[in-house]
Amino acid sequence: MTMKIYDLAIIGGGSAGMMAAISAAKNGIKKIAIIEKNKSLGNKLLLTGGGRCNITNLKDTKELIQKTSSSLYSKNFLKHSFYTFSPTDLIDIFNEKGLDFKEENNNKIYPITDDSNSVLSVLLKYLKEYNVKIFNNINVTNIIKENNMFQVFDSNFDSNFDSNFELIAKNLIISTGGKTFPKTGSNGDGYYFASLFNHKVSKVLSGLISLNSNEKSIENLSGLTLNDIKVSYYYNSLKCSKIEHHTYGNLIFTHNGLSGPAILDISNKIAESIILNNMSNMSNMNNVNDVNNEIAIYLDFCPDLTYDLLDAKFKDDFSCNGKNKIKNYLKFYLPNRFIEIFLDLSNVDLDKTLSNIKKSERKNIINNLKGFKIKINGFNDKNQGMISCGGVKVNEINPKTMESKLVKNLYFVGEVLECFAPTGGYNLQIAFSTGFLAGKSIVS
Ligand SMILES: Cc1cc2nc3c(=O)[nH]c(=O)nc-3n(C[C@H](O)[C@H](O)[C@H](O)COP(=O)(O)OP(=O)(O)OC[C@H]3O[C@@H](n4cnc5c(N)ncnc54)[C@H](O)[C@@H]3O)c2cc1C
Repeated sequence: MTMKIYDLAIIGGGSAGMMAAISAAKNGIKKIAIIEKNKSLGNKLLLTGGGRCNITNLKDTKELIQKTSSSLYSKNFLKHSFYTFSPTDLIDIFNEKGLDFKEENNNKIYPITDDSNSVLSVLLKYLKEYNVKIFNNINVTNIIKENNMFQVFDSNFDSNFDSNFELIAKNLIISTGGKTFPKTGSNGDGYYFASLFNHKVSKVLSGLISLNSNEKSIENLSGLTLNDIKVSYYYNSLKCSKIEHHTYGNLIFTHNGLSGPAILDISNKIAESIILNNMSNMSNMNNVNDVNNEIAIYLDFCPDLTYDLLDAKFKDDFSCNGKNKIKNYLKFYLPNRFIEIFLDLSNVDLDKTLSNIKKSERKNIINNLKGFKIKINGFNDKNQGMISCGGVKVNEINPKTMESKLVKNLYFVGEVLECFAPTGGYNLQIAFSTGFLAGKSIVS
């Protein structure tokens, strides 16, 4: 078998891997190969944003850094990659090939076509133009480094058979993604590759995932959406510290719990605290109550009003509109379908008129409006998480290049790293920025 030596081999042809190849090629690297286990590149990219691809977010870089930071890793880790390749740099690359973008709520950026295929096709155009060699249907299972060269093998490698895959490269980028949505090809192989080179990998949990709840009270609410609420989660409900995390947005009740952007974002914080507190027996989140730890979230239906303001307003309204029934009054604050359950849990009769509401009942109502508690039993099917929280430890990666601090010429980019972010285009920007930075850092 004649063996071609590549300047750069990239394992994993997702967003990070493709961008790494493009960036290296722009920087003059000639012999580049992408090795991908699927029959085509970018399978996960095609699913993003419900097929519309929320490619990035136009918040300024400082806010980008803040949004993508976590107490699990240094908040400065991604800084250099974002400054090297910002959201506008990303957009420019696509604009150059004629693809335009539009901005939606919260600075989210989508292609004007509303179709992730158009994003992928620009990346493929670049790869073709730069003569990047693409090996599809190759499931890499082993990598060794000998004589300053990386050797990459597929599953059936056996030196007695010429037909099996082996590739040699001076530089290697691992961009195999995380381990959620494994049907897209990203099933955690990169963590094993990292371990081959003695890299540490943190516990990995699914993030941006729906939550399960067995609460009887919400059983019949499936399909109901709560708009613009604040969702909080306290570490101290895990009996640890008192740090509060919260997100704003919409929540949707599902047949077995909760979903919607606010829930997906808070799920990252729950995963983060499980990893941070090393709760090994909770890693599956199958039944958190088994381990005597309670995870609960709190819904604030009036995030713009403090408890005291709300109390003053209620007192006022109750005295002016004494004949109104509480169930009708609450329509200003809650959707119809939710009111009965809400009043039941607040121990207030539905048909009570405002003038008959006792002080203790008013307090119950306001307490629940500001912090309606829902106990959580676990994450939804972990394969359905949109991202992986945790991964290759970034303290062993040089943030200025994405090169391993342990092995020369070895790089890690994208979701295989322990970094993760909320919804809004941040996760793809992490993949593109880290990929671009690594590609730019390669010297042949
Ligand atoms: C349903 C869904 C919707 C999403 N929507 C958005 C969104 O709108 N905006 C956003 O910012 N983020 C979104 N994300 C997250 C985003 O898709 C990921 O963060 C991003 O794709 C990570 O890119 P990556 O290149 O690091 O990994 P991936 O895209 O996962 O690519 C890794 C590649 O490596 C290949 N690979 C793995 N192991 C091997 C191996 N052993 N040999 C060969 N190849 C291998 C895989 O087949 C895969 O093609 C979404 C995710 C999901 C699942």
